[in-house]
Amino acid sequence: MELGEKKELLIKELKSQGFLESRAVIKAFREVPRELFVPEGQRKHAYSDQPLSIGEGQTISAPHMVAIMTELLEPRKTDRVLEIGAGSGYQAAILSRLVKKVVTIELEPELAKRAGESLKKAGYKNVELLVGDGSGGWPEEAPYDKVIVTCACPEIPPALLEQLREGGKLIAPVGGGWHQDLIEIVKKKGELVKKSHGGCVFVPLRH
Ligand code: SAH
Repeated sequence: MELGEKKELLIKELKSQGFLESRAVIKAFREVPRELFVPEGQRKHAYSDQPLSIGEGQTISAPHMVAIMTELLEPRKTDRVLEIGAGSGYQAAILSRLVKKVVTIELEPELAKRAGESLKKAGYKNVELLVGDGSGGWPEEAPYDKVIVTCACPEIPPALLEQLREGGKLIAPVGGGWHQDLIEIVKKKGELVKKSHGGCVFVPLRH
């Protein structure tokens, strides 16, 4: 089967499972070539619903997890989004189709370099890729409308909540072990309103 057919099949599956819902997010999934964001030897698996190794002990999240997190974030065209854990750059690429700007931070210089190349190849210009520890966020461009953490944190780094605008939303896998809770936090009148969206598995946030 061709990659294009596999992609359509995957989208259909993610829709029927309820992971892909909104028109805009489905369109972004169609548009972004996931094969550009996985290592060359793995391209044939680009549209199976599984995480794939991207080197340095890290993974590109499974498509259903990208779908869940993207839908939860309720991306708007005017949003400026901060992502912690650029990894392959795929989640940032999906978001870049849906929002005004994505600032994404990656700890591993080698991964950041590859993510930058993939984003460039795809031609996505509204993604700013930074190298370093994202736990402190990126105050230079704060506040953000949305924040997405794609590595597991024992607790949400306070800086990320500070850099979230009033009314803004943060999504993060929270927990110390190999299983985490997918947590949503909305800042409402200065209060943090928390909701849990079930279990997930992410590589840990490191310093
Ligand atoms: N969103 C990615 C998947 C992320 S995997 C994608 O679409 O491919 C988690 C990533 O978080 C890894 O690449 C890891 O190196 C990175 N990471 C871990 N700790 C970090 C930190 N403190 N700051 C920034 N990135 C971090």
